[in-house]
Amino acid sequence: MLIHNAKLITWGEPNEILEDGSLLIEDDIITELGTSAEMLETYPQAERIDAGGQYVMPGNICAHTHFYGAFARGMAIPGRAPRDFPEILRKLWWPLDQSLTLEDVRYSALVSLVDAIKHGTTTLIDHHASPNAIDGSLDVIADAVEQAGLRAVLCYEVTDRGGEEKAQAGIRENIRFLQRMKDANASNGRIAATFGLHASLTLSESTLEACREAVPKGVGFHIHVAEHEADEYDSLEKSGERVVDRLHKHGILGVNSIAAHAVHVDAREVELLKETETWVTHQPRSNMNNAVGAARVDSMMRTGVHMGLGNDGFMNAMWEEWKTAYLLHKVANRDPRRFPGDLLVEMAVYNNAELAASFFPGVSIGVLENGARADLIFVDYHATTPLTSGNLPWHIVFGFHESMITTTIVAGRVLMRNRELQTLDEEEITAKSRELAKQVWERYVTYVPAD
Ligand SMILES: [Zn+2]
Repeated sequence: MLIHNAKLITWGEPNEILEDGSLLIEDDIITELGTSAEMLETYPQAERIDAGGQYVMPGNICAHTHFYGAFARGMAIPGRAPRDFPEILRKLWWPLDQSLTLEDVRYSALVSLVDAIKHGTTTLIDHHASPNAIDGSLDVIADAVEQAGLRAVLCYEVTDRGGEEKAQAGIRENIRFLQRMKDANASNGRIAATFGLHASLTLSESTLEACREAVPKGVGFHIHVAEHEADEYDSLEKSGERVVDRLHKHGILGVNSIAAHAVHVDAREVELLKETETWVTHQPRSNMNNAVGAARVDSMMRTGVHMGLGNDGFMNAMWEEWKTAYLLHKVANRDPRRFPGDLLVEMAVYNNAELAASFFPGVSIGVLENGARADLIFVDYHATTPLTSGNLPWHIVFGFHESMITTTIVAGRVLMRNRELQTLDEEEITAKSRELAKQVWERYVTYVPAD
C-alpha cells in the first residue's frame, strides 16, 4: 500500500515533517519513505491511498487504561457523593466491576475500541477487572481487539478484595493468558500480555508472594501505585514500608513493570522507581477527576524515571490527555514554565513508543521510519500559523483535535477510512452497549455499600 500526497510527521529523533511525503507499507511494516513523485514513479503498481495533503503521523499510544469502565458513563452513584478516592473505589468501581458478565466485558471493550479507532489511539495497555467473570475474560477482550484490528497489551488485576479464591482465579487468568500469547507466538501479533495487580492496598503479603512465584521469567507487572495517600497509609500499616519499597521487596518492580500514577510517592520511592527502571504512567484527567493530586512529573522525569502517558479509562483521545497534562502542572505549581510541550512529547510520544515496543519486541512502534510497524493516522489539520517540527507540540496542544482524524491504520490494515469504520459496526455495538449498560446499572446498585 502506497500512501502519497501526505505531510509526514515522523516522530523520529529528531522529529521531521516531510512535505508532500509518501510511504510504502508491505504487510504490517513501513518499508520506505520518500517524496510522492519519487514513490509513485518507483511503485506504479502499488495500491494507492491519496492522503489529500493531510498530516500522516504515528497513531497515539495509551500506556494505561480500563476498557471495563466504559459502562460508568452517565451512571448515578446512589446516596451521598463519594468524598475521596477510597470512597470512589468502594461506591463506584468495585460495585461496578462486580456487576460485569463476560458479555459486558466484551461490549465494554468493543465500545472502547470503537472510540480508540475514531480518535487515533492505535496501541492500548489495558488493566482489566470483572471479579464475577474472571475465567476467560482476557480471551473475550482479546477477541474484541482482534476484531477491531488494534494493538493491545492485556492483563487481569489480581486483588484480595473478593477473598482468596478470587485472588487465585486472577492469578490463573493472567498465567493462562500469558501462556496463550506465548504459544500463539504473539510477538508477531497485535496482542500481548502482562501480569495485572490492583494496588498494594488490596494485596496481602502472601498474595504478592504468590504472584511473584507465578509470573514467568521476563514478564513484569501492571499495578496502580500511590494513586491516593490511602495506598501509602495501608502499606505502612501492613508492612512498615512505603508502597514502592514494599513492591520492590516482593520483586514487583523492574524494566517490564508499569506503576500507574505515583502521585504520593516520596523521594526515596522515586529513586527506587528510577533504579529499577520501572515504568510510571501519568493519567492527569483521572487524577483531577478523583481529586488525588498532581504527580510531580517534571521532577520524576528529571530524576530519570521512565514516564508514559495513559488515560485511566477516559476517552481514548490522547491529545485530550496531553492538553490536560500541559495545563494541570502549570496551575498545580503556579508556574507557567512547568511541563512544557517538549517534555510532554518526550512522555507521550517517545516514552510511550518505547514502552509499547517492549511488549512487541524487535520492531519499533510509534515512528514513521523504514522497518517500523505501520500504525498511523491521517489528521485533517490546516495550520493557521507556521508549523515546524520544533513547534509541533504546541500546535497539537492548542490546535489539534481528535475529530480531525479521518483515517486509522494498524499493522498495515485500514481500520477507519474517511471517518468510516471498516472493522467494527458502531451502530450495532452502541445499541447493544446501551442495553447491557442498563442491566449493569441495575446490578450495580445492589453491590453499592450503604452510606
Ligand atoms: Zn487505572
